Amino acid sequence: MEIKVAKSAGFCWGVKRAVNIAVDAVEKGKGRALCLGELIHNRREIERLKSLGMNFIEDMEELQRGDTVVIRSHGVAPQVVDFLKRKGAEVVDATCPFVKDVQEKAVKLQEEGYPVLILGNPKHPEVIGIAGHVKSPMIINSIDELEKLPKMAKLGVVCQTTLNLNFFREAIAVLSLKVKELKVYNTICSATSIRQKETKELAGKVDVMLVVGGKNSSNTTKLYQIAKSVNPKSFHIESKDEIEESWFEGAESVGITAGASTPQWVIEEIIQRLQEISQGGDKSGRGVCETVRGEL
Ligand code: SF4
Repeated sequence: MEIKVAKSAGFCWGVKRAVNIAVDAVEKGKGRALCLGELIHNRREIERLKSLGMNFIEDMEELQRGDTVVIRSHGVAPQVVDFLKRKGAEVVDATCPFVKDVQEKAVKLQEEGYPVLILGNPKHPEVIGIAGHVKSPMIINSIDELEKLPKMAKLGVVCQTTLNLNFFREAIAVLSLKVKELKVYNTICSATSIRQKETKELAGKVDVMLVVGGKNSSNTTKLYQIAKSVNPKSFHIESKDEIEESWFEGAESVGITAGASTPQWVIEEIIQRLQEISQGGDKSGRGVCETVRGEL
C-alpha cells in the first residue's frame, strides 16, 4: 500500500511559532506560564505542553500577579491584553502575524469610515479577537444572513483566516449587489488555501484518505469535509488508535493530510501504524509499503 503524505500536512508556520513561544515562556518565565484557552486545538499536543509545565485556564479571574500569559495564535481583543496587564501578568504575544494583519485591516477600514463586516464564525476565538479591535462590527457566517442585509452605501470586509474560499467568493458576489462602495480584504491565510487545495487533489488520487487533527479544530473539520466530498472513503481521526484495518481492504493507496494544529509526531505515529497494517500481511497479500511525502 502506498502512503502519500500531503506536503502541507501538520503545523502551519503560525502554530509552530506559537508553540515555540509557549515552550520558551515555560522555560524562561518567572511565574507560572499560562495560556488563556487551548493554545492549539489538539488534545494530545496540549497534554504534551502540560507535561512541560504549561497551564491552561478559561477564567481570567484565576490569574495571579507575576504569571506569564501567552496569547495564542488566534489573538485576542485589546481589552483582554489591558486586563491582563492590570492584573500584573507578563504578556507574551504569540498571535500569528497573519491574524494581526486582519486585526489591523479591520481597524484601517473603520478609520476610513467603512462599517466593518467580518466573514467568519462569530464563536471562533480569532473572530472574537478581530471583532474586539473595532466598534460594533457585523459578523456573518452564512449566505442566508448576507442575503438579508439591507442595501448599504459603504462596507468594509475582512475574513477569518481559515474561511472557505468558495464561501468567500459567494459572499462577495452577494455583497457586490447590495453595497455601493465595497472595500474587501481577502485575509484568508495562504497556508489554509494551499492545504485545502492539496487535500482535494490528494483525496481524489488515493483509495482511502485520512485527515488527522482535533475533532474540535475547525480547519481540520473543513479539510475532512473537502476530502469527503471527493472521496467517500475519507476518515477524520485524532490518533493512530482510531484507525480500523477494514478501511484499507483492497486499497492500494492511502493519503494523509493534517490540520494546522496537528504536530508532526502524531502524523509519524499514523504513518507507522499504516506501515504495520500494510506490511503485516495486508488483505491484498502484497506486504509492501512505500511512503511518499510532499508529492501529489
Ligand atoms: S493558519 Fe495561517 S493565520 Fe492561522 S495560525 Fe497558521 S499561518 Fe497563522
